Amino acid sequence: MKSEQTFSMRRIPACRCIWLPGVILLLSTATGWAQAGGASTAAGQDLSGPRTSKALPGPTADQLAKLESVYKDIHANPELSMQEQRTARMAADWLRQQGYEVTEKIGGTGVVGLLRNGEGATVLLRADMDALPMKENTGLPYASTKTGKDPSGVDTAIAHSCGHDMHVTWLMGATQILAQNRDKWRGTVMAVFQPAEETGEGARAMVEDGMVKRFPKPDITLAQHVMSLPAGRSPYGAAPCCPCRIVGK
Ligand SMILES: [Zn+2]
Repeated sequence: MKSEQTFSMRRIPACRCIWLPGVILLLSTATGWAQAGGASTAAGQDLSGPRTSKALPGPTADQLAKLESVYKDIHANPELSMQEQRTARMAADWLRQQGYEVTEKIGGTGVVGLLRNGEGATVLLRADMDALPMKENTGLPYASTKTGKDPSGVDTAIAHSCGHDMHVTWLMGATQILAQNRDKWRGTVMAVFQPAEETGEGARAMVEDGMVKRFPKPDITLAQHVMSLPAGRSPYGAAPCCPCRIVGK
């Protein structure tokens, strides 16, 4: 029996518009930790004090072009939960090229990249990597035609219909900009590429594989999810968990 669904929403061409503000928002937030006056984090990191970070640049046209090709590659080559070997390899290779300390195969296919840049908070940035057992029906030139077997051995089409292809691309772009601008911030960036968000297995598998013991305790964790919104908009609402200052134009 096939458990297949289809999707045909043409959301993909908007990727450049959607994730770019995400990168900018993230970088502003991640590098602005020294600006949030009077706050401290769960790990005890003092977030008050003088401003020690500078604004980071957005991606260049060349970076955007490269990331768009990476995005299309990942989109065309989706992998089911706990089977994200190719995507994880891409993420690990990318992180190494940017100078991160890279650990692979955490809880299966999980990847952690550390960029230590002096005293300061540890900021965990997370992207999930897995796709869904669905048939893509967008008609895009880079639409997925991939098939595979789900955990019970059933053949299924595979598609990135939840946006994790964008999440991976976004985190790759953010890690590159952070690495290229180390003179403008301080602290530690911990990039986490997580398997199996769709089934709920990946986060647990990483924790059971020693995730919290093998790496620094993050002061702040940032994740993201794509939504269908006009370019330049960032939705937000009341968030009781943490203080947040958004810097930008
Ligand atoms: Zn998802």
